[in-house]
Amino acid sequence: MIRLEAVHHRMGQNWSYAYSSTVLHIRIRTAKHNVARIDLHCGDKFDATKYNETLVMTRFASDDLFDYWQAEVSPRFRRLVYYFALHGHDGELVYMLEKGFFHHPPAVWYEGLFDFPFLNETDVHTPPAWVKDAVFYQIFPERFANGDPSNDPEDVQPWGGKPTPTNFFGGDLQGIIDHLDHLSDLGITALYLNPVFTATTNHKYDTSDYMQVDPHFGTKEKLKELVDACHARGIRVLLDGVFNHCGHTFAPYQDVVAKGPESRYADWFYIREWPLQVKDGIPTYDTFSFEPIMPKLNTANPEVKAYLLGAARYWIEELGVDGWRLDVANEVDHQFWRDFRRTVKEVNPEAYLLGEIMHDSMPWLHGDQFDAVMNYPFTNFVLDFFARRLTTAAQFAQSINSQLANYPQQINEVGFNLLDSHDTVRLLTLCDGNVQLMKLAVLFQLTFQGTPCVYYGDEVGLDGEYDPDNRKCMEWDPAKQNQELYAFFRKMIALRRTHPALRESGLSFIAVPEQPQLLVYERWDAKDRFLFILNNSDEEVSVAIPAKPNVPWCTLDSETAAPVEQGTIPVTLAPYGYEILYAPADAAMAEVAAYSEAAE
Ligand code: CA
Repeated sequence: MIRLEAVHHRMGQNWSYAYSSTVLHIRIRTAKHNVARIDLHCGDKFDATKYNETLVMTRFASDDLFDYWQAEVSPRFRRLVYYFALHGHDGELVYMLEKGFFHHPPAVWYEGLFDFPFLNETDVHTPPAWVKDAVFYQIFPERFANGDPSNDPEDVQPWGGKPTPTNFFGGDLQGIIDHLDHLSDLGITALYLNPVFTATTNHKYDTSDYMQVDPHFGTKEKLKELVDACHARGIRVLLDGVFNHCGHTFAPYQDVVAKGPESRYADWFYIREWPLQVKDGIPTYDTFSFEPIMPKLNTANPEVKAYLLGAARYWIEELGVDGWRLDVANEVDHQFWRDFRRTVKEVNPEAYLLGEIMHDSMPWLHGDQFDAVMNYPFTNFVLDFFARRLTTAAQFAQSINSQLANYPQQINEVGFNLLDSHDTVRLLTLCDGNVQLMKLAVLFQLTFQGTPCVYYGDEVGLDGEYDPDNRKCMEWDPAKQNQELYAFFRKMIALRRTHPALRESGLSFIAVPEQPQLLVYERWDAKDRFLFILNNSDEEVSVAIPAKPNVPWCTLDSETAAPVEQGTIPVTLAPYGYEILYAPADAAMAEVAAYSEAAE
């Protein structure tokens, strides 16, 4: 019996959306292993004789409870009405319309069917094309390199000392300029800089002036020099914008502190009770968290909005910055972000807007606000499997599939896939210092769709517990850098940049139930196929991987064909070892793609 209570589809979001100006994706969910085939019947709403077609849907992902199916449709007149025909394993046939389930096809066209009214190009969510191919590197400017001792803060500590919440080491923009060779050599194509505007702290999330570069980091001219030098190398630059709150030294807030309710800036903030003070640990005004030095900005106030949008525009227009990473993005009103997007894209349509949101982010990803969000759910899936050892390969595959099904494809293509940051424990520390284990996590990150981001220093073996320990000074002494780890990052980034298959959506996990910690997955596009086998356990593993016999797999380094006997590939892997197999695939072979074999 088809379990109708598990069947889900509704118009919009991840269920029916425009992937491009001509292509719609239609998806439906069913109970896992419960439905044998689904046909999508569709046509023009005004006259089906002028356009109609029936498409067999592809099961593109499965998690622990459900199968997810997708069809790609190019409606001739950009309008589509549709319904589904669900085939059970025992010959049962059920039709799903907008108005319900039936055992017979619809008697009349249009009424009660699902409707995608019109594919309007301006409504298509289109992240900048460069983002999908970028490899990001995150820099915490105070700790990357001190290129100019003349701008050092007072009491600057010797480079490499122990970070505390309040100390300074003198890192600056000149230091980044001095080390661009390091980034180019690694294969980086985009930088994400933590805040660089004037502020009092070492992290600069308490903005004092949105129009000035912090003097400890340099000047506007120095930032321009950095941006130009990066662009000359094909590296984009993303700034961190803190628009949810300001710092307590922000002039309008200081005016409110001085004049109270009489200040002309009183409405720039959310004051719950005068005077401004902290009572029992709770500020009398809204802040970021309960942090008194970070008053929340009233972004609905037209003056506040004009000021912040002016700053957003200025750095893009005047300095050629390539976009914004937006701090605490989900606590700011949606209207502000819609205006923010219009403002920035008007200056540079290719500018990239990345929201910091740690949870399900669909409300911000309809194409009218952010291009992408920081993919912390991905981070946690990877850490739970590789670092924390809480899940099996099958559970990991289900989590990844579940997330892929939850978002439109163009969003998955640009998910900002980080494994650590200034806000988390460093990856190597989470892996208990096990470099081989860390490599497996990085290998998955760099071979998965979305935009990978390397947190500065991870590539040479920097470790660190939570803030402030995760913000150590970058290690520049080659003798103290882990050169073998660096070589691994460099090689994997190069592999990703060489093969679009590692950035596209072709993905299937291959189950090897007798080895619960063995992660096996294929990645492909029309040109290439890869098979990745990762041994996430502390024991040697010998196993036969199920494989299609007609694929000429070879090992990546040797280009020697791997033996394929009776449709299996024998593999022996050391503890935390991995194998990468490669097969040049023609378009026909890509057609056989294992979409339908996803995560059994
Ligand atoms: Ca300095």
